Amino acid sequence: MPPTPEPDANHRPLTPEQADKLPHIHRLLLGHYGQPKPRVPTDPLTQLIYSLLASRTKTPAAQQVLRDLERTFHAGPANWEPVRDASLPDLERALAIVTFPEQKAPRLKALLEQITARVGTLTLDFLAKYRTEKIRDWLEQFEGIGPQISAAVVNFSTLRRRALSIDANHLRVIQRLCVVPRADAATTETRLMRLVPETWDAVLLDDHHALIQLHAHTLCTFADPKCTNCPLLKICPSGQRNLAELHLTTP
Ligand code: SF4
Repeated sequence: MPPTPEPDANHRPLTPEQADKLPHIHRLLLGHYGQPKPRVPTDPLTQLIYSLLASRTKTPAAQQVLRDLERTFHAGPANWEPVRDASLPDLERALAIVTFPEQKAPRLKALLEQITARVGTLTLDFLAKYRTEKIRDWLEQFEGIGPQISAAVVNFSTLRRRALSIDANHLRVIQRLCVVPRADAATTETRLMRLVPETWDAVLLDDHHALIQLHAHTLCTFADPKCTNCPLLKICPSGQRNLAELHLTTP
């Protein structure tokens, strides 16, 4: 009888230590920051528009622009046609406080036009009947929509599917903690999802993402991580290295 082939690294069962990596981080962050405020999910199209605006933009500015779009164009959930039909200069003016409005305005308009052309109407509610991978493939066919945004749409919206939206903040924290081998955001999401316990549903994954975001903005900042005060220091190779170097250079 031929020998049974070894399962490849992606299909090998997790060791107990691997299986507890994300739950351990989650418990420590929960203990430090408390339970994140529950999200009120929006419809998938509103989440898609928001995620496009929010890319490389601070959350308050992106939220403000979404409200401005609703007010200026008398638009909103189930009625984004006025934004699709707005002139580019008007749209660019409305997006002025997000990053790259001159790129995001035409991209948003083209996206809404292309969705209308494909679906026959401007909605993404039909995606609810698809499995998660099919939804993400469908969203990623459009220019400017990558895995980070498709994960945000499926996880944060009323679709409420299991996914991790790996933006620059999430990636930085995970890389500093050396949870999975260093890679781009898409590969990192795939590797992290292998470590996510089966019992974690979409809401728990959203909470986990929110805790990582909070941590990235308060202690594990880009330029000046506050490792001394970090609840993850004991399990963080980068933090321990930072403190060792600080110790060596302090007279
Ligand atoms: S110990 Fe430092 S580098 Fe590690 S997660 Fe905490 S703040 Fe970030």
